[in-house]
Amino acid sequence: MAKIADIEDRSYWHKTAKSVPLPTQAIIGGRQVDARSGKRFATINPATGETLADIVEGDATDVDDAVTSARRSFDAGHWRNQSPLARKRVLLKLAELLNAEQQQLAAMESLDMGKLVRDAAGNDIPTAINILQWHAEEVDKTYDEVAPLPVGNVGLIRRVPLGVVGAVVPWNFPLNMAIWKCAPALAAGNSVVLKPAEQSPLTALRFAQLALEAGLPEGVLNVVPGFGETAGQALGRHMDVDCLAFTGSTAVGKMFLRYAGDSNLKQVWLECGGKSPVVVFEDCEDLETAADQVVSGILYNQGQVCSAGSRLIVQDSIRARFLDLLTERMAQYRPGDPLDPQSRLGAMVEAKHAANVMRYIEAGCREATLVAGGNAVTVNGRGSFIEPTIFSDVRPDAVIAREEIFGPVLAVLGFADEAEAIALANDSVYGLGASVWTDNLSRAHRVSEQIVAGVVGVNVVDPVNPAIPFGGFRQSGSGRDLSRHAAEKYTALKTTWIRFKD
Ligand code: NDP
Repeated sequence: MAKIADIEDRSYWHKTAKSVPLPTQAIIGGRQVDARSGKRFATINPATGETLADIVEGDATDVDDAVTSARRSFDAGHWRNQSPLARKRVLLKLAELLNAEQQQLAAMESLDMGKLVRDAAGNDIPTAINILQWHAEEVDKTYDEVAPLPVGNVGLIRRVPLGVVGAVVPWNFPLNMAIWKCAPALAAGNSVVLKPAEQSPLTALRFAQLALEAGLPEGVLNVVPGFGETAGQALGRHMDVDCLAFTGSTAVGKMFLRYAGDSNLKQVWLECGGKSPVVVFEDCEDLETAADQVVSGILYNQGQVCSAGSRLIVQDSIRARFLDLLTERMAQYRPGDPLDPQSRLGAMVEAKHAANVMRYIEAGCREATLVAGGNAVTVNGRGSFIEPTIFSDVRPDAVIAREEIFGPVLAVLGFADEAEAIALANDSVYGLGASVWTDNLSRAHRVSEQIVAGVVGVNVVDPVNPAIPFGGFRQSGSGRDLSRHAAEKYTALKTTWIRFKD
């Protein structure tokens, strides 16, 4: 384990990033394998534009191999029939192995998608491990139900694993997204086929390698890197996948519903986009803290967060003052080398996505007032970075008020009274997160009750905790990640009705 002083040193992270072995092969049936086609694709460091490694490019044939091996392991009961205590121990061992490699995983995550290493090491990786431990601890503490039937009958109502779970995850929190899906699915006894995003396959592959080392039987966790249109679609359409858990864009989420309808009606659980409102009332006493949280809420991970508070709805009476607080703070977030722990803003995941965000910024310049930022920049002459950007005077029907930008871009709208604030907050096709800032207790309850969102934070922006369900209403998706409720997605209720003689 490195010393804290080392971790704060840029050269420590550059050394770690250079020396960390990068996994490149798929994991199918407990073995590291190439694609049947022999194809590979480059995974690129968006902070430098350099190729990090050539990764196996799985397609429908490899997905089929992975599903077959997952089915085989499930039917044989190699994992699901182990005692709850034994399954818990394997998952805790996996957490221990990940824990021992925290710095390497943080460096991989930073290299692969441009994330700040300080965030990966200080938050993302420890959070992912904590979530795995949380679901592991649940395995031998979960009870089933007995139904209230007439004497002479016993009704056992149990939650049983579904079988083969497919998971298709995005690039913004690579290890977290893999663990958010895999941990509860594995804890419930399923076998899993995971497809990481093409931009960020590294930590998912390492996760699967360590799972084998921890004692997870072969075939229980398979990882097939590849592209969405090929490998992702093949998983979505596979006739022997029982459940598909997805995080990503709403457009692709809709495709998974179609794939299921066209194939075997597999269960589909979606965690899609958001345009989360942050509502700040004039009776909020601590505007400084509110400003700190609004800024970190939109700039964490360069704004590439589905639940980022990207729509600030602030009462007209305090709008000018609050904007000053925001611009002061944002000025401190200059894009920098993601491997430098002093940097405050990392790279965008890829040049294509950065160009997309810049198109939104250009639209914003036409339809609102640019208050800060607005430029694409390089660091040391390389990479895809975008300045923290604020638009004010944003109309509710403006593109930047309605669409998910997924970048460091804050749209600021004003309101006169509580009713208008609630109407603006709910004026979206999404309903993932929301935040309300007030010191009036009745208002806090009233407003949070009326806002349509999976999680409403009062005097906090975007709180995440393993014990709190995460997911949304409307086109933000269905089902919940995290907490005990995650298990509901990966299990079905099974009743055994027993009639016995006197
Ligand atoms: P996508 O929704 O395209 O990607 C998410 C996952 O779905 C990836 O593994 C991807 O594979 C896969 N995928 C893509 N197309 C298909 C398909 N046709 N069939 C099956 N699987 C598919 O997100 P993007 O990375 O393209 O980002 C676009 C926008 O999505 C962002 O700007 C943002 O608005 C939103 N988004 C939301 C996220 C969230 O956390 N809710 C996370 C990421 C993005 P691959 O990448 O390998 O091609």
